[in-house]
Amino acid sequence: MSFKIKDFFNASEEEFSDWKWQYRHRIKTVEELEKLIQLSELEKEDIKRALEVFPMAISPYYASLINPENPECPIRMQAVPSLAELQKSPWDLEDPLYEERDSPSEESCITHRYPDRVLFLISNRCAMYCRHCTRKRRVGNKEYDYSEKVILEGIEYIREHPEIRDVLLSGGDALLVSDERLDWLIGELFDIPHVEIVRIGTRAPVTLPQRITPELCKILEKYPSLWLNTHFNHPKEITPEAKKAMDMLAHAGIPLGNQSVLLRGINDCPMIIKKLCHELLKVRTRPYYLYQCDLSIGLEHFRTSVARGIEIMEMLRGHTSGLAVPTFVIDAPGGEEKSLSSPITGSHVRTLESSSEITKG
Ligand SMILES: *Cc1c(COP(=O)(O)O)cnc(C)c1O
Ligand code: SF4
Repeated sequence: MSFKIKDFFNASEEEFSDWKWQYRHRIKTVEELEKLIQLSELEKEDIKRALEVFPMAISPYYASLINPENPECPIRMQAVPSLAELQKSPWDLEDPLYEERDSPSEESCITHRYPDRVLFLISNRCAMYCRHCTRKRRVGNKEYDYSEKVILEGIEYIREHPEIRDVLLSGGDALLVSDERLDWLIGELFDIPHVEIVRIGTRAPVTLPQRITPELCKILEKYPSLWLNTHFNHPKEITPEAKKAMDMLAHAGIPLGNQSVLLRGINDCPMIIKKLCHELLKVRTRPYYLYQCDLSIGLEHFRTSVARGIEIMEMLRGHTSGLAVPTFVIDAPGGEEKSLSSPITGSHVRTLESSSEITKG
């Protein structure tokens, strides 16, 4: 398939392994897509309608992982729009995580919800628009890097708040800014005496592993307490290219974690999650969180029941290496903490289940 994709783009090996080439050649239209995967007339119409609301972008690399004949391919389901995205459900919310409410100002790139850590959005770009993205409304509709002014204000905010010891760089994708900007920004953050750790949130190892270059690793390895969290959802995503990317990051001394989202029909199965967690450990990546799919608009068709998540966790805990067991979390609307499904905080889960009817089959 990869061969076919390269052919389709008439790309050389060198171009195909260049992340900027990959980014420029993301598949954004049905006309391109239908040359790569089988689509019926009806599917084409449906995708076009979905695209009027939520854009599509798929890196040629990620597209090369799609099984072109299987409409239920887990890679395809994460990448290709479906009409189901336009279904409204009564519990959909525009900004379910109150990221805008918890921002110092409207145009700020900071979300300061928990006292000692902030979310710092630095890019609105992604190598692929995941169909299950919680920031669907914001990501993709306009591709931009946050302006220098907004970033400087973010740094200033952190400087003025000595209680902040942990900064999470996210977006969009935090690795879709230039090496120079990333280096400058991380340097500025570590210059602030109370900033102890910086975390990078990125899906690049999954959707654009070419982004992990020796030059990038040279920059990242300079910083003593930099962490990186990525977002693999399915063992099929751990390809030779992705393994190489994770290996380079590990060699640069970056502790690696993974946050997955539980998605109906993609990975809501104990065997798949277990396999994924085992594959992650093999690339020195600790499964960190397993998220219940949240209440953003357009995600209804992906949501599983909370009970399903708990069931999957019960099939992991005690049955495999503790290292392979992530924490199951629910980013509940307006929640002060992420609700954890541990025995201690299990009551959160029960409250959520009975107060909002997000439980499905
Ligand atoms: C998830 C999240 C964090 C980080 O939470 P951890 O549980 O420490 O990983 C920080 N800020 C916001 C707004 C978040 O949603
Ligand atoms: S990479 Fe992250 S921010 Fe970008 S579309 Fe996917 S889930 Fe959303």
